[in-house]
Amino acid sequence: MPYFKNFINGQWLDTNETASNINPSDLTDVIGEYAQASCDDVQLALQSARSAWQSWRLSSIQMRADILDHIGSEILARKDELGTLLSREEGKTKAEGIGEAARAGYIFKFFAGEAIRMHGESGASVRPAIQVDVNREPVGVIGIITPWNFPIAIPAWKIAPALAFGNCVVFKPAELVPGSAWALAEIIARSGLPVGVFNLVMGQGAQVGQALVDSDQVDAISFTGSHATGKRIAAATSSRLTKLQLEMGGKNPLIILDDADLDSALNCAVQGAFYSTGQRCTASSRFIVTAGIHGRFIAALRERVAALRVGHALDDATQIGPVVDQRQLNVDLDYLDIGKNEGATLSVGGQLVERATRGYFLTPALFENAAPAMRICREEIFGPIAAVTCVANYDEALAMANDTPFGLASGIVTTSLKYAQHFRQNAQAGMVMVNCPTAGVDYHVPFGGIKGSSYGTREQGNLAIEFYTRVKTAYIA
Ligand code: ADP
Repeated sequence: MPYFKNFINGQWLDTNETASNINPSDLTDVIGEYAQASCDDVQLALQSARSAWQSWRLSSIQMRADILDHIGSEILARKDELGTLLSREEGKTKAEGIGEAARAGYIFKFFAGEAIRMHGESGASVRPAIQVDVNREPVGVIGIITPWNFPIAIPAWKIAPALAFGNCVVFKPAELVPGSAWALAEIIARSGLPVGVFNLVMGQGAQVGQALVDSDQVDAISFTGSHATGKRIAAATSSRLTKLQLEMGGKNPLIILDDADLDSALNCAVQGAFYSTGQRCTASSRFIVTAGIHGRFIAALRERVAALRVGHALDDATQIGPVVDQRQLNVDLDYLDIGKNEGATLSVGGQLVERATRGYFLTPALFENAAPAMRICREEIFGPIAAVTCVANYDEALAMANDTPFGLASGIVTTSLKYAQHFRQNAQAGMVMVNCPTAGVDYHVPFGGIKGSSYGTREQGNLAIEFYTRVKTAYIA
């Protein structure tokens, strides 16, 4: 069985404990055994990052750009292999896995460019004969804690800017997907970075993640995961005033208006809610549909959802891979019961199905007659489950879309410029989609939400620099 170690202080380090990485499409397929870092390992990683930072923070921006570009090129050259590994361990389809791997490559290349665009400002003082410079400096040691649903893209969009702007990294990937994290770390380990600048510590959130969160050696933490863990991290770090960036999910609505192009509405709905097995923080889980199109939309949607092919993630015919693990499957099944008990109508799917291999196969589920107060309309499920609610008009749809503690992505399907513009201005979300699925975003522009979805400055694009740098104002006479 292949065995994969942590990368700490420039070395691949053994540990006593290991964990198996199991393929959710085939529970007999063990991808490998992965070292589980101890608290001492985390401390060692933090110390090595701290000491490496003394010189890395002053490293040449050309060197950083070259290293990031090199990492991006290797990821792109190996995207099929990396994407296949990703799909094997996480369960999204191979096409989605390869797309995600490519995205990770492009992210590194984007931040290679950003490294050399870290300009400051210079101006006159209001006092005579003094110059004022405003510059950005790296923050220090960044703890990066990532979820399982984007095993290579999310690590990439945190690690790349951290390194680009002169920080050192201790990276704690999600326990379910160490394979992609390890493969990425292996590429980074060979990229020419000085010893200690990048460290990989695999293991459980409650131990390894918590050790990072509790350490006074971490200057900033970038986290993506559940709302509950995000809030726990915020509480645990508040006394030290650690710089934080938290991405914590959504309950994203897709409004479909009477004037929508039906095919476009169906594509947005099916892709947004069910692709990647609905396991995306930007997935649409609420379809809010005006009465004039509701009947036609629902009838066609039932057919489209029922026709989705659920199966092994690496089978080319598969459109919807398995649920990631038993725990998430239990959550999904619980919400199917909750929805039925609340009085919504489960019109399609929600069935456990068998395939040639034993895996967590659940057919995409559609609830109809869902009321906005139901838990299936309020709580993030993170599975292939969506609920349809019929409303009288646009105003009611908008109010319902905004009536959520989350605010990540919000979508509308309409041919009306008036409603599209109004929605863009009034949707309470960090990302607004007009005639596009709520899930599926570009890598070169900011990503993030409002309300309970996000905390701290934006990730990605030219705003990523906000989190990974501090501003220093210098007066020079
Ligand atoms: P999910 O429910 O989607 O797995 P989590 O928020 O539990 O989301 O996990 C996201 C990431 O946070 C994972 O890498 C996980 O190991 C980590 N994590 C979980 N609990 C903690 C914790 N107490 N402190 C730090 N990290 C944690």
